[in-house]
Amino acid sequence: MKAHFFINSRLFARGRLTDSGAPWSKTVMPVRFAVLEHPSLGPILVDTGDAPHMIAEKSPALRFYYDVLKPDLGDGHTPKSALSDLGHTPADLHSVVLTHYHADHIAGLPEIMDADLIGDRHALARLKAMSRLRRLRHAVFHQHLEPLAKGVRGFDETPAVRSETALGDGFDILGDQSLLAIPLPGHGLGHHGLMWREADRPVLYAADTSWTMAALMNDSLPLLTRGAIFAQSRAGRDSEDRVRAFIAEGGLVHLCHDEKSSDDIAR
Ligand SMILES: [Zn+2]
Repeated sequence: MKAHFFINSRLFARGRLTDSGAPWSKTVMPVRFAVLEHPSLGPILVDTGDAPHMIAEKSPALRFYYDVLKPDLGDGHTPKSALSDLGHTPADLHSVVLTHYHADHIAGLPEIMDADLIGDRHALARLKAMSRLRRLRHAVFHQHLEPLAKGVRGFDETPAVRSETALGDGFDILGDQSLLAIPLPGHGLGHHGLMWREADRPVLYAADTSWTMAALMNDSLPLLTRGAIFAQSRAGRDSEDRVRAFIAEGGLVHLCHDEKSSDDIAR
């Protein structure tokens, strides 16, 4: 399996909110998504990034969200442009895997409406059943859920398998053990990572388990952020511990909002 990461947009945040060892000054957080190239099944899109057209949406809550985060979409990639860079079109997609349902992971879905979607079906059902206000407390907007009306194939509808790593069990979402969905609860409802192998080394896309690699590896995710954003604090700590143990046993980790991999920090 070969992984390609693409920057979709950039968010600006106070460094101290992402890592208690970082200064308060403004820091740039990229929003990334990935295309995994399976040797026989074709490309698999992992998340979609944010989507500029949603900014024009006439929803006060969504406008407020984008006003606060001020995502700079610049010349960032969308699923279509990323696939095109790799010589593919959306019609070539085997599937789209959603790590969770936050805007910067699913807002690009309208570009690839025909693709098969895989995600946490229970989390999606819970989010759909919530009132708009309650959903907002989970940082999920109903506009972004509309392309998910057809639902997702649930991770747990695929065979449960051992990852044979410190990450514990996962789901064999492609049926050939080449890509496992790993439950990493703590960040958003239904949050999962994805594990595959490159040169026989296990690789994990840990999505938003942490925002920066330094905060993950130094265990310095600030309490304020942990409480406000990572609502299930205890579960989040357990997920971080498993990801750190995975790195310690030789695994390579990527995050959504940091271009540095775990290898870059260890060096
Ligand atoms: Zn998120």
